[in-house]
Parts: sequence; structure tokens; C-alpha cells
Amino acid sequence: TPSTTFAGRTLALFGLGGSGLATALSLQAGGARVVACDDNPERMAAAEAEGVATADLRGADWAEFAALLLAPGVPFTHPEPHWTVKRAASAGVPVIGDIELFCRERATTAPDAPFVAITGTNGKSTTTALIAHVLRETGHDVQMGGNIGTAILSLAPPAPGRVHVIEMSSFQIDLTPTLKPSVGVLLNITPDHLDRHGDMANYAGIKERLIASSDHAVIGVDDDYTRAIAARHAGPLTRVHVGETAPGPGILARHGVLIDGCTEPPSPVADLTGIPSLRGSHNWQNAGIAYAVARALGVAPDAFAQALRSFPGLPHRMEEVGRRGSVLFINDSKATNADSTEKALAAFPRVHWILGGKPKEGGIASLAPYFPRIAHAYLIGAASDAFAATLEGHAPVSRCGTLEAAVAQAAEDAAHEPEAVVLLSPACASYDQFRSFEDRGDQFRAMVRALPGLVPTGG
Ligand code: ADP
Repeated sequence: TPSTTFAGRTLALFGLGGSGLATALSLQAGGARVVACDDNPERMAAAEAEGVATADLRGADWAEFAALLLAPGVPFTHPEPHWTVKRAASAGVPVIGDIELFCRERATTAPDAPFVAITGTNGKSTTTALIAHVLRETGHDVQMGGNIGTAILSLAPPAPGRVHVIEMSSFQIDLTPTLKPSVGVLLNITPDHLDRHGDMANYAGIKERLIASSDHAVIGVDDDYTRAIAARHAGPLTRVHVGETAPGPGILARHGVLIDGCTEPPSPVADLTGIPSLRGSHNWQNAGIAYAVARALGVAPDAFAQALRSFPGLPHRMEEVGRRGSVLFINDSKATNADSTEKALAAFPRVHWILGGKPKEGGIASLAPYFPRIAHAYLIGAASDAFAATLEGHAPVSRCGTLEAAVAQAAEDAAHEPEAVVLLSPACASYDQFRSFEDRGDQFRAMVRALPGLVPTGG
């Protein structure tokens, strides 16, 4: 997508990771001049090689710049980005991101093109992928990206009849002053990422801005913050609730059955309990939200239900890896904290649980209500001592050290039990033993699939 709305102007850009470079090239393709900077000299050199002018912005004359483009994911813990933003802001230069460029482009070239923006504390990627899947399966021309997958300016440009399904972090909302999605989604708000956004009121306020600017809002109303935002919202709104009874008209997920309460009488839409990629009640919220969005875009309930069944799910999030006899292997490597792991434990009555890594504050004490579900715990990595102490007296524990040893022992133990589940849901960061949670999950999948007699899911 070329960004034409700054044609003939000069912009500063900080952060030359993948999407930062895409932003610079998009601006240049649209006729703007870009001066780019990064605190990593290798990325500066790579940008130069692509024809992007670079400079140390510390000495810059800010009067020259129409805006400062800040790449998403710029590490604000580093002092230089922080100071660059301060200098720009005090010179009155607007600080914006790549999604802002997309919004300006859409406003001038295809203002009626459907644009779905998704935010929330948890479930953003899953819900974004689910919405994109359903829309594709029902014959739409879909472009998916933003905070998930492809940078927004590397997608095909907005065009009549083409739907953009875009995941947005709070940080990205902050950098998008003209954000105005045709459907804006807020999944949930729980305390997280407060390091970057200061306090809860500020964090919730940023998410509310996405909702307030939407033509049609879809809100998961299962927490106090989102309920308050829904109550304040004046425009068209669909509420999505997971529970026994609906608090009002909207979409209800009750015991895994999705019910459309916007019709009279309310009508059942889909039974989610038989869909492996949507295990766990947290996924009922994601599915309910996807339904509300699909309805807002004119997808029929039957077509939605049909499309849902072929959703493959995302890797590392309760991903079904395969079966060996009656034993099921689940990769939930994305669960890097106790809250996420709680969702996985809640989805199974009994687990052979592989956990550990680089521990987070609070450890796994909050998971105590689920300890009776543990058939056996297999500890890996730096958290082993602390977790062994927490679990003592509640469940049999083995200190396995490595993931490899844990997989071998869990597979062996589980083979003696009917319908057993071996679950990797570490409740820890991965960095003590792996490059990333993806690396950890990929290794787990490979180890499991190498077990003799294993039948991979989908294979
Ligand atoms: P995000 O993109 O917001 O980080 P993901 O879709 O990648 O979210 O899911 C990350 C983890 O969050 C999942 O593994 C699961 O444990 C949890 N999760 C997913 N959806 C929800 C939800 N609707 N509510 C609460 N937790 C969720």
C-alpha cells in the first residue's frame, strides 16, 4: 500500500524493524520524503540499502517534519526512542503509526471499504484470525494483519468490497488519531501491560477510544471495565457475554452454545463444544465476538456456523498436536503467565502438565483451585524450585530439567491412563531455555510428533 496522504512532505521515522521499513517504503512510494532512524546501526544500514535515507534524529530540526512515524514494537525501555518522541512532541510534531497512514489512505481512496479493528487484553490474535477465516470462507476478499502477521502497509490497499481485519495493541491505538473502523472490537480488559500504559484508567481509556470511534461496536461484556465502556457507548453496539443468562440483548455463549439474542425469539447459532480449535470458555468469547462481527458485515448465521467448523486455530494456543492411542497432546506454549495457563487447565478435567521456564511475578499460586486436576506435573527450566515448592502436597511432581525429558516422561506416564491429556502450558517466559514461546512450542511439537505411534492432528 503506498501512503499518498503525505506526498511532497518530509517525515521522520523511528524504528526500522520489519514494519518500520515497510512504512518508510510505503511513504516513499506515495511521494513523501523519509528520514529514518534506529538505535541499531545494522538496521540503519539495511534501510539505506533499500533506498531509505537515514540520519541521527538527535540533531534534527523538527520544524522540517510533518510527522514522526513510530514503528510498533519500538522498545520504550530504551532511552533513545523515548527522547525522540519527547523532542517531536515538544516541537508540536504529531507522533503517529503505520495504521494511521492506512486510515488516512482509506479515508481518501475507499472510505466505505469495511475495516474491522480488534483490541483487548487477551484473545486478540485468535479472534482476528477467526474473523478473517470466517470472512474468507464466506467468500470475502480479506486482508489480515497489523499486530498479527503482516504489517498493515504490506497488505493490499483498501478497496471497495475488500475487508481489512486488523489486530491493534493499545500502543497502536495511541498512534492512530484518525482511527475510525467500520466495526470496532473490544474483547476484554484485565490488568496487563501496565508498565507501558501507566495505570488502568489510562489503559482502559485507550481501548475505549477505539470503540468510541467505531461505526459499529462489538464488546465482550464479561469484565467491569468493558461493561462500563459499553454502558457509556452511544452508537450501534453488540454485546457479547459468556455465561448462564444474557444481561440484555446481544450474543450469549451458554455452556458452549452460541445464542443470538438480537433475534426475536433468541436463536441458537452454533455448538462450540465439538470444535477442537475452540477449546475452553475463553474461546467462546472469541467465537461470540467473531459472530457479532460477521453479522455486522452481513454474513448469515448458517454460513457463519459452517465456516467456524473449519477454523484451524493458531499455533501455540491450545494447539492440538496429535494423539497416541487415547492420549492427547496439547501445545499451549503461548501461555507465558498464570492467567493464560488457567484457561488451559480449566479446559481439561485431568492433565499431565509440563510447565516452567523463566518465572513471572506471583508464580503459579493463583492456579491452586486447579491443582486437583493435575495427574502429574513435569517441571522444566529456572522456575523448577519455586514451582515444586508451590505444588508440594498437591500433586506428584518431577523435576525434568529439559523439555525433552519432560515430554518423554509425560508420554510414558500418560500411556497408562485412559483418555489422558499431556499439556505444555508453561505459565512462564521461555527465554531461559528457548529463543521465544514460538521456538518452545515448535520444539514441543517436533518432540511429540517424533514419539513412536503418534498420529498428528490434521495429518
Ligand atoms: P493476544 O493476541 O491478545 O495475546 P491470543 O489470541 O494470542 O491473544 O491468546 C493468548 C492466550 O490468551 C491464549 O493462549 C489463552 O490462554 C488466552 N486467551 C485467548 N482468548 C482469551 C479470551 N477471550 N479471554 C481470556 N483469555 C484468552
